[in-house]
Amino acid sequence: MSNTDLLKSKIDNFINAKEKNKHLNCITCDLSTAALENIKLLDEEAPLFGKTFAIKDNIHIKGSPTTCASQILNNHNSIYNATVIDRIQGAGGSILAKTNLDEFAMGSSNEHSIYGPCRNPINDEYVCGGSSGGSAAAVSADIVDIALGSDTGGSVRQPASFCGVIGFKPTYGRVSRFGLTAFASSFDQIGIFSKSIENVISTFESISGYDENDTTTSKINVENFIYSSDDAAKLTIGIPKQYVPDSIDPEIKDSLLSMKSFLKKHNFEIKEIDLPFTDKSIPTYYILTTAEAASNLSRYDGVRYGLREKGSNVSEMYKRTRTNGFGEEVKRRIILGTFVLSSGYYDDYYNKALKIRRLIKNDFNRVFQDVDLILTPTSPFPPFKIGEKKEPIEMYLSDIYTVPMSLAGLPAINIPSGSTKLGLPIGLQLTANQFKENNIFNLTNFIMKNYS
Ligand code: GLN
Repeated sequence: MSNTDLLKSKIDNFINAKEKNKHLNCITCDLSTAALENIKLLDEEAPLFGKTFAIKDNIHIKGSPTTCASQILNNHNSIYNATVIDRIQGAGGSILAKTNLDEFAMGSSNEHSIYGPCRNPINDEYVCGGSSGGSAAAVSADIVDIALGSDTGGSVRQPASFCGVIGFKPTYGRVSRFGLTAFASSFDQIGIFSKSIENVISTFESISGYDENDTTTSKINVENFIYSSDDAAKLTIGIPKQYVPDSIDPEIKDSLLSMKSFLKKHNFEIKEIDLPFTDKSIPTYYILTTAEAASNLSRYDGVRYGLREKGSNVSEMYKRTRTNGFGEEVKRRIILGTFVLSSGYYDDYYNKALKIRRLIKNDFNRVFQDVDLILTPTSPFPPFKIGEKKEPIEMYLSDIYTVPMSLAGLPAINIPSGSTKLGLPIGLQLTANQFKENNIFNLTNFIMKNYS
């Protein structure tokens, strides 16, 4: 069979897999007809030729709906491609679908969505994690090879851990955010899901690098990665003492300890490290991201995009549009963000949180003088049942291991590391210093090849 025929049969398989997994509710839009027509335009030698992709529905693809799983954008069609879309297509990849998410990427369970909850492919009574839950589920259920998500405080790494796949968030500024719907612009970063580390790396190399449409993209060169077990063996790994509290789920703790013994057995140097500001991460993250979100989401006013409710004057129209268009969690964050930015409270909350963000970053800078990678759990608990976590604060606490890296703009990955007695996936997180993605790729390769 020629490579082109192979790709055609993969697209047929996608249609079957999508039908078979309808109950998961992970696909929001099928783009496979256009992908089939595009095959003749693709270069068979291109690095992503033959790979199938799904894209989180907060990333723009020209001519397709981008809803962010929100009523306010329910009828919105994108008029341009995100840079990552141009780059995937330029590298020969086939984009087959868009995926479910928590509304505007706010959440950790993919339960806050106009499409309804996305279910975990390993056990569909459980959440698939969030906010990029649909992308994680689509990869986990073998509907596509690779999916893109966005990670502001863990939304790629945490659903990857819940669905038992790899989920990689690059350094802030590595991948262009042009065409990614803004949630918290100083945190947002596009990330990659796959079952294979090779797919993650080839996608990263294709989509990363400077983009004149996003002034926060870095001009630092993206080196081509070549795995070397000798380089991997030289890596020093730190485990923060604050990250294994007594309250941690015992099965997650066992998974971390078994990875630690595996690495020790293979003669890796392991050090205990100190990240004292960890316990300030959740409040700092939820102050800064809600402030940025309140400002970013002010553009949805019924004038420029999507939903417009009727009103007898402009302010009534704004009010009705935003009241009916946004879901409960998004409104909660807009209210919180507006409060922390309001005069009289700005210094106490927003400014103070900015200073603590700096201290958290300083903690990491100090630690990375001593170690190359940090090993932690990805989530403090395994997947939970749909509907189980009702309190917002309880949900926010699930981000404890992922938001510190986001506050510091660091690259991090979720690696599947086993499963619970109930058969639910567990994942561990590796974090590197800024722009040191290759350290992550080296150790992940080593682990994927040798850990069972
Ligand atoms: N769970 C986090 C939140 O709700 C992370 C979201 C994300 O990374 N997009 O803010």
